[in-house]
Amino acid sequence: MDSPLIHKAEAILAELQSAGLTKRERPLSGPQSGHITVAQGGRRRELLNLCANNYLGLADHPEIIAAARAAFDSHGFGMASVRFICGTETLHLELEQATARYLGKDDAILFAACFDANGGLFEALLGEEDAVISDSLNHASIIDGIRLCKAKRYRYQNRDMNELEDRLKEADHNGAKIKMIATDGVFSMDGYVADLVAICDLAERYGATVMIDDCHATGHLGEKGRGTPALTGAGNRVDIVTGTFGKSLGGGIGGFIAASQPIIDLLRQKARPYLFSNSLPPPVVAGAIKAIAIAEAADDRRALLADHSRRFRARLTDAGFDLLPGETPIIPVMLGEAELAQRMARALDERGVYVAGFFYPVVPMGKARIRTQMSAALTPADIDTAADAFIDAGKALGVIT
Ligand SMILES: *Cc1c(COP(=O)(O)O)cnc(C)c1O
Repeated sequence: MDSPLIHKAEAILAELQSAGLTKRERPLSGPQSGHITVAQGGRRRELLNLCANNYLGLADHPEIIAAARAAFDSHGFGMASVRFICGTETLHLELEQATARYLGKDDAILFAACFDANGGLFEALLGEEDAVISDSLNHASIIDGIRLCKAKRYRYQNRDMNELEDRLKEADHNGAKIKMIATDGVFSMDGYVADLVAICDLAERYGATVMIDDCHATGHLGEKGRGTPALTGAGNRVDIVTGTFGKSLGGGIGGFIAASQPIIDLLRQKARPYLFSNSLPPPVVAGAIKAIAIAEAADDRRALLADHSRRFRARLTDAGFDLLPGETPIIPVMLGEAELAQRMARALDERGVYVAGFFYPVVPMGKARIRTQMSAALTPADIDTAADAFIDAGKALGVIT
């Protein structure tokens, strides 16, 4: 138990601890939902949940559970194979087709997670003669995926279209063959939406391909929940969409890439997380198929979610909190220092509201926040209860007066 690595680990942990940057897990002891049960010191407490990616409230939906249970009975627990050896069930093809149809693409390819989808995409499609031009606030999985490919890398400041154009010119000047613009559809820490129409206009002008990661949009934003291409009006001008079944679409696990046929065909041959990692378990696949069907028809849930966002924003803004502007169900309450964000999270916990403080390195230094997320699993009365708790805690800590 005594080695240079153990010493290093202990030193880093002590540093994180003294900087107030340690992330702690608080275990739930029941289903993910609007109200959750938390196990705490031998006690079970019910809390209102404001930090799940469960936007449509489908994580414990009875029809999704029933679909998953039926697939357990008919197909068993796991596949024990990658897709191309003996890990492809007709169920997998059905989910790929349902995903592609939902998003208006030729085809889709499944991954164990969107982290893997983004990890496999760039390396499979781009070579050293190509360029990838990436928004500075893109998700870690896009950043890692780009690191794994040999294309020349360019970065533009978050949503800065002038800088994106400069980078496109630079890539052209350097003789890039393929230019791929990569952006989150919704930036998860801020809730900002990418200007996809402007991005597609630039892509057209410079002959670039557009890839978006729509994890925080698919299912709940845009018409029928078709995500930011539908929300912004960019539609099918976006070439490649990556996304997850781990958020709005049931909250299980699994990722996908949806695109035109030759791109998906090539990914099936070349994407390493697809070729060298296990196939999704049938119950998860059956649940996700059901989740897409429910999400597509869930205008009522999307309307409730949008109402919650407006209601919560208005209450907190009126009370004097500093919120980032926006229209998505991601509502960041800005607090500044990590320590204050953590104290605020504890004060809210004491008042029955489960939230998470976000701080460096997840967000920049000095921009610590509590990122709240609305959910259709909550009622309007829940939103008022949550806002009351924020106002009470905010006054107690001197965040508002
Ligand atoms: C959550 C998220 C991912 C990762 O999705 P998983 O399916 O959980 O791996 C990737 N990109 C973005 C933008 C995300 O928000």
